[in-house]
Amino acid sequence: MVLGSRGNSALLSVREQIDCACRRVGRDPGEVELFAVSKFQPAGQVEPLLRAGHRMFAESRVQEANAKWAALRSEYPSVRLHLIGSLQSNKVTPAVSLFDSIESVDRDKIAIALANEMARRQCTLECLVQINVGLEPQKGGIHPAEAHAFILRCQTAYGLPVRGVMGVPPSGADPRPYFDLLRRLADRHDLPVVSMGMTSDFVAAIAAGATRLRIGRALFGERDR
Ligand SMILES: *Cc1c(COP(=O)(O)O)cnc(C)c1O
Repeated sequence: MVLGSRGNSALLSVREQIDCACRRVGRDPGEVELFAVSKFQPAGQVEPLLRAGHRMFAESRVQEANAKWAALRSEYPSVRLHLIGSLQSNKVTPAVSLFDSIESVDRDKIAIALANEMARRQCTLECLVQINVGLEPQKGGIHPAEAHAFILRCQTAYGLPVRGVMGVPPSGADPRPYFDLLRRLADRHDLPVVSMGMTSDFVAAIAAGATRLRIGRALFGERDR
């Protein structure tokens, strides 16, 4: 058995399930991006996917991502790396230099800091507004009732390139009403990206109109923590 064949076959299997779920609801699989969530996975777990040609990855912490991806990114320059975890203001500078997208914009302070940092570096990063769809105190995201006004402030007051929304339904609950909420919010603002759907619920997310899935355990197995 060659090193990395497991990562490769998991990738093929997940892709097949995504394509199948798309066909069942009459969607084009080409409009659903698969981001491999490599948080808590060492570089050795990520490399089989890279060798298999996968290029879209997501991490939840700036420091961990920096350590893991600094070398990997020079070897694989076409990698797209997204931040999906909470961002602290003292990490905005390294985050803007490392990531291609910040999917977890959820408060004014961070939105302003990101806009300032992009202006300073004269770069534009895709930003998504994270919505705390289940009103869970332990989760990031802006309250759904404040999301509309927050998205408008990000776009008009701060000049942040908001391209979509991201959210995580409460675990154990039927995810569909939460997915519908995210999809409606994106439609209301004419935003092209709806980032929703993880290992346990990506089929429902596809049916609800996800354009981007964030999948960890189905690709890498259970995390150590
Ligand atoms: C960990 C994580 C995922 C991936 O979850 P899995 O259950 O491993 O697929 C997706 N999105 C966010 C925001 C996460 O923190």
